[in-house]
Amino acid sequence: PPARSDRPAAHVPSMDAYRSMYRESVEDPDRFWGRIAAREFSWETPFILPGDAAASASAIASKPDAESHANGNATTAAAAAAAPAAADPTKVTSQQSNFDVRTGPVAIKWFESSRTNLAYNCLDRNVHERGLGDNVAFFWEGNNPEQASKLTYRQLLDRVSRFANVLKSFGVAKGDTVGVYMPMVVELPIAMLACARIGAIHSVMFGGFSHEAIAGRILDAKCKVIVTADGVFRGEKVIPLKHIMNKAIEHCAEQGFAVTATIVLAHLGNLPEEEKRSLDRDWLKLEAEASPDCPVEWLEAEHPLFMLYTSGSTGRPKGVVHTQAGYMVWAATTFKYVFDYHPGDVYWCTADCGWITGHSYVTYGPLLNGATSVLFEGIPTYPDAGRCWQVIDKYQVTQFYTAPTAIRALMKFGDEIVARSSRASLRILGTVGEPINPAAWLWYFNVVGEGRCPIVDTWWQTETGGFMITPFPAATPCKPGSATLPFFGVVPALIDSQGREVEGEGEGSLVIKQSWPGQMRTVFGDHKRFEETYFSQHKGYYFSGDGCRRDEDGYYWITGRIDDVLMVSGHRIGTAEVEGALVGHEGVVEAAVVGYPHDIKGEGIYAFVTLAEGFKFTPELVQHLKLDVRENIGAFASVDIFHEAPALPKTRSGKIMRRILRKIAAGETDIHSFGDTSTLADPNVVEMLISTRPGH
Ligand code: ATP
Ligand code: MG
Repeated sequence: PPARSDRPAAHVPSMDAYRSMYRESVEDPDRFWGRIAAREFSWETPFILPGDAAASASAIASKPDAESHANGNATTAAAAAAAPAAADPTKVTSQQSNFDVRTGPVAIKWFESSRTNLAYNCLDRNVHERGLGDNVAFFWEGNNPEQASKLTYRQLLDRVSRFANVLKSFGVAKGDTVGVYMPMVVELPIAMLACARIGAIHSVMFGGFSHEAIAGRILDAKCKVIVTADGVFRGEKVIPLKHIMNKAIEHCAEQGFAVTATIVLAHLGNLPEEEKRSLDRDWLKLEAEASPDCPVEWLEAEHPLFMLYTSGSTGRPKGVVHTQAGYMVWAATTFKYVFDYHPGDVYWCTADCGWITGHSYVTYGPLLNGATSVLFEGIPTYPDAGRCWQVIDKYQVTQFYTAPTAIRALMKFGDEIVARSSRASLRILGTVGEPINPAAWLWYFNVVGEGRCPIVDTWWQTETGGFMITPFPAATPCKPGSATLPFFGVVPALIDSQGREVEGEGEGSLVIKQSWPGQMRTVFGDHKRFEETYFSQHKGYYFSGDGCRRDEDGYYWITGRIDDVLMVSGHRIGTAEVEGALVGHEGVVEAAVVGYPHDIKGEGIYAFVTLAEGFKFTPELVQHLKLDVRENIGAFASVDIFHEAPALPKTRSGKIMRRILRKIAAGETDIHSFGDTSTLADPNVVEMLISTRPGH
C-alpha cells in the first residue's frame, strides 16, 4: 500500500524517546502530569503545578457561563506547558494519594483544588476552541450493513446539551446516579456525556445482561432515572431491552426501590403495547423539545464521573468509581500515545460501552482527542465472518482495537475471508481483555495486518481506567504474547510467594507501586471493600490480581489470574501458558485450563478444549496436545484430564470464567453453589459441561 507521506512523526518515535519520557513520568509525576493536564485540557479553576503557581493552568473564563464559552473566548493553559521547571519546591502537588493502609485510609486524589468538566473537554473545547465542529465524531455502523449514519462534533454537542436538559427536567442533578441500558447506538455515548455535563454519575449496564443482573445494579446504585431503548438486533437475534428492563424495574419495586422515570429510545420502533409502562417517556420527542442551551456544570476534580462493574471473571463484580479529572487525563493521554492518534485517522474499537473499554476507548479517550471513530452496533460474524474487514475498508479505518476472543473466533474461519478485503488503510492493531496466545497474535499480525501494522497488546483493568502495560507502536519492539512495557507514570512490580519484590527476571503477583491519574477511587458505596480488595494483600501496593512474568528485557507477560495459578508437584504454572500451548495446535480453537485436587501432585491439570471444525477428539489428538504442552512448558506440566467442550462458560464481556470450570473439574454438579453467575453469558453451557465431564 502507498505510504502516507503527509503523516506527521509518531508521538513517541523511538525507544530513547519512550525511556526519557517514562523516566520523567515516574520521577516527577506531578510535573509530568501537571504539564500534560495544563496543555491538553481546559480547566475552569486551575490546579497548581508544583513549585510554580504562575505556571499553573489558567482558567477557562472568569465567569463560567454558557455565553462566554460559546463565544470561544475560553483559554487553555498553553503557556503553562512551556514554563521551565521552577526552583521553588513548594509542594502544591497535582497529586495527593495514599496507597498504604498502614499509614491511613486509602485516598487517591489528582488535580485537587481544580474544577473542570469532562464533557466540556470532549465537546465544547473541540467545537469552540479547536475548530473541530464539522469533524465527524462517530460513524455509526448498524447491525444491518445497510444502516449507517454519522454525527459531527457540533451535532454531538447539540444533542448532548439537549439531552442533559431532558435529564434535568426529570430532576437529575449533580451527584445523582443514572442507569443506562442501551444498544450500541450514538444515543449511548450521548447519554453518558449528558450525565457528565451536569455532574450526574452514569452506571452503564451491558445490553446483553439479564433482568436479574440489571436489577442488582439499579438497586446497588439507586438509579431513579433509567435511560433505555425498545430493543436491538445483534446478528439475527433480537434483544428485547425494554422487556428486560420492565422485569428489572418490577424486581426493584418488590425490593422497595422505585424507579421514577424511564426514557426510552425508539430504536426498533415497534414496541408492543404490553411492554409500554406509565413511567415511559419518548427520548427523541423530549430531545427535540428541549433547549440546546445547557450550561456546563463545573465540577471538582474528584467529583465522580461514573461507576461501572468489573466483568465478574473472579467473583462478585465490583462497582468501580472513576472521577472527572484524573480519569479524563488518563483516558485521553493513553489513547493519544498508544494509538498514536493524528488528525485524519479513523479509529475503531469493537468493545461495547457496557465495559470499561467502551468507556475509555469508544467514548472518552477518542472524543477528548477530537478523533473520528466507528461505533458498531453488530457482531463480528454477521452477516458473515468478513464483517470487520468490510467495515475497515468502508471507513478506511487506521486503528482497529478488539479482543483475543474475537481474534480467535475469526481466525477459525480461515484466511481467505480476510483476503477478500483490502485493509490497506490499517496502521495499528490493538488487543485487550485476556492474554493473547502467540498463535492468535501472529495471525492478527501476519494475516490481518499483512506484517506491516504493529500490535498494541494493552494490559489494563476496569480499575485502572486505561492502559497500564502496553507497547508504543512506533517505538516498542514487540514479542507475541507480551504486553511489553509500562505506560508513562506506571511503576509495576512483581511480588513473590514470600511477599518480596522480584528483582530483574522472574515471576509473581503483579502490583503497582505508585498512583496514576486514572486509578479508581473507591468501590461504589463500599470503601472498605476497595481497601480490602486492592490494598490489603501487599501493604503499600495496588494489587492487580493478575500473575505475571518479567523476562530478561524487562518485558511483562501476563500469566493469568493469581487465583488461577496452578501448583503442580511444587511448580507454579500459569493457566495462560498452558492454554497458549493448546491453542497453538491447529485443531484447537479455544482452551481453558484449571487445577483440581490430585492425590499425588497436589493439583492436577484439567483442560477444557474446543475443537476446530473437521477435528475429532481422538486418543491421537489428545496425545499430540499432551506433547505440545510438555514441550512448551516442561515435563512437569502434563495435562491429566482433557474435556471436550463445544463451548466454554464466558462472561458477557467474552472472558472465560475459570472459577466455574474449577467447580466442574472438582466434580461439583449443583450450579447454585457456583458463586455469582450474573455475568455468565449462557448458563446452558455450564449444565452441558457438568453432564459431559469425563468419568461422570
Ligand atoms: P472481575 O474483576 O470482576 O473478576 P475482570 O477482571 O474480568 O472481572 P475487567 O476489568 O474487565 O474485569 O478485566 C481486567 C482483566 O482482564 C485483567 O485483570 C486481566 O486479567 C485481563 N486482561 C485485560 N487485558 C489483558 C491483556 N492485554 N493481557 C492479559 N490479560 C488482560
Ligand atoms: Mg478484575
